[in-house]
Amino acid sequence: MLQLEEKILRDGRALNEDVLLVDSFLNNQVDAPLMAEAGKAFAEAAKGLGITRVITIESSGIAPALMTAMALGVPMVILKKSTSRILNDDILQTEVFSFTKNAAYQLTLKKRFVLPGDRVLLIDDFLARGEAAQGASKLIEQAGGSVAAIGIVIEKAFQPGRALLTGKGYKVISLARVSKMGEGFIEFVEADA
Ligand code: 5GP
Repeated sequence: MLQLEEKILRDGRALNEDVLLVDSFLNNQVDAPLMAEAGKAFAEAAKGLGITRVITIESSGIAPALMTAMALGVPMVILKKSTSRILNDDILQTEVFSFTKNAAYQLTLKKRFVLPGDRVLLIDDFLARGEAAQGASKLIEQAGGSVAAIGIVIEKAFQPGRALLTGKGYKVISLARVSKMGEGFIEFVEADA
């Protein structure tokens, strides 16, 4: 998605060689028209996959996921990040380690928002090591759904997330793929949509 790459070049900032700050249009402030375009791009790339539900992880996945759900005409479901394990029949949890925050959290799904047979398009803001997407996929599958594709707004292609997910058979759709970054420069390889 050329428009997204241009936005990353204009407003993104590599904090170091590993972490990209996009707080002005995705993580803190949200560029709604850009998210609407991202939603259309995900919907177009997932055409023919029979998506019945879009699922995302709070909080930065919500904006692109909502726009994708709108474009596809399906419901959007949010996985919450909880700090503790909750004993409750209605929820499924799995531990995810966040390398950017250097902390673990319990990714939490309310079971009744995934129906057996659901074909899910999972959306997240970033793909780094693939921990978050892998944990989310596990919960969706435990609830009886299947992950038809994983849509990523910004993939850091120099990290192992894509290989982990495709190695498990998931289809990854990234709108921007950063191949290298550092002080004052961000480079891309060809994206999926
Ligand atoms: P993973 O689980 O793939 O290692 O990391 C994905 C999650 O970590 C994303 O949901 C995102 O919240 C966060 N993340 C990873 N790398 C970055 C980054 O470079 N910048 C920002 N803003 N978030 C990141």
